[in-house]
Amino acid sequence: MVLDLVRMNKILEVRIADRLAVVQPGVVYADLQGRLGRDGFFFPPDPASGKVATLGGNVATNAGGIKGAKYGTTKDYVLGLEVVLPDGRVLRTGSNCMKSVSGYDLTHLFVGSEGTLGVITEIRLKINPLPRARSTAVAAFDRLQDAGRAVSQIMQSGIVPSVCEILDRRAIALLRERTGADLPAVAAVILAETDGYTPEETRFQLEQLVAVFQGSRAVQIRTAATDEEAERLWSARKALGSVIMRSRLNFLVEDVTVPMSRITALLEGIAAIALKYKLDFVTFGHAGDGNLHPHVFYDGSDRAQVEKVQAAVTELFQLTCALGGTLSGEHGIGLDKAPFMGLEHEAVALETMRSLKQLFDPQGLLNPGKMGLEA
Ligand SMILES: Cc1cc2nc3c(=O)[nH]c(=O)nc-3n(C[C@H](O)[C@H](O)[C@H](O)COP(=O)(O)OP(=O)(O)OC[C@H]3O[C@@H](n4cnc5c(N)ncnc54)[C@H](O)[C@@H]3O)c2cc1C
Repeated sequence: MVLDLVRMNKILEVRIADRLAVVQPGVVYADLQGRLGRDGFFFPPDPASGKVATLGGNVATNAGGIKGAKYGTTKDYVLGLEVVLPDGRVLRTGSNCMKSVSGYDLTHLFVGSEGTLGVITEIRLKINPLPRARSTAVAAFDRLQDAGRAVSQIMQSGIVPSVCEILDRRAIALLRERTGADLPAVAAVILAETDGYTPEETRFQLEQLVAVFQGSRAVQIRTAATDEEAERLWSARKALGSVIMRSRLNFLVEDVTVPMSRITALLEGIAAIALKYKLDFVTFGHAGDGNLHPHVFYDGSDRAQVEKVQAAVTELFQLTCALGGTLSGEHGIGLDKAPFMGLEHEAVALETMRSLKQLFDPQGLLNPGKMGLEA
């Protein structure tokens, strides 16, 4: 059997009445969004790589994005799968129903399995009506602790923002230097968006956010009254990825994630690791779901620097797990983080994962080495 996943790029069905889209795995995320938008619907996970990443890859890595706080990640939308198993049998899991508790949840065994158990050849997704209104606020903080407290307070304020991003001092400095962004030189900035089906609904949520920022000693708060103003406020955050990509140095990006109340501790820990190893870390991320992206810059031709980066990242993973966090909130374990699985998972959990790998793929044909599950 030959599976050409790139050519398996058809949107097979969109059934608005059933809140359902059925797609082949090679469909690019943005193409599905474009199709659903015509019916006023969307598929919320929204990875930053959405213009190029495929839905097969999204499901295999359980992709998420900036809207995770309110809308969750890919796993919250997968209703069923067709999977070709390593022995050639075709397994169909789940159903077209919004609810099903019939038998083991085989669907979610494959979501996030990084292609180690089977090849996904068809995906059934739950879709959402597109919110028609949004409001944006940006708050600046002189102290990291105040920004961290604001994130925790937002979660206790009775609303869940659709986006809640945090930028650390280095990320702000980089944007100011390279793009002339209109951001104050502070310890942290939070950008938040609320969405809903009426402007009143989003404005009400925005008022709660602003109240939290005021109570958390924000030194500057800006809100956007129009979509154009919102776009201006977001432009700096959106530029960050390309500013980093244009760097002359090599960089490594991580996607460590902690419970939201530990965001400050993680940011402080990253700053301490940067200082200890004399490395340049730029950190930003999705504070609304505890997922940070520390980027560490280095010269890949300098052996000593590469070793320092490896030691620093090991310390970052140790810190994250000590804070009750996880090695990966978005990108998956792959080969790079496989040696660190034992930091996060107890022996029984690792044994169970290895048994599943052995059951589905006894010959180790699929993505050998990924997640470190070989016996
Ligand atoms: C600039 C950039 C930004 C990113 N931003 C985000 C982000 O915001 N959120 C996020 O979650 N991730 C992000 N990522 C990581 C990555 O893009 C996502 O994990 C994405 O979901 C992967 O999709 P892909 O099509 O690129 O998959 P690939 O990279 O091709 O594959 C990823 C893994 O899935 C497996 N796989 C792919 N298709 C199948 C299939 N049909 N069946 C079984 N296994 C399969 C592959 O074997 C591989 O192990 C980013 C990456 C980059 C480079």
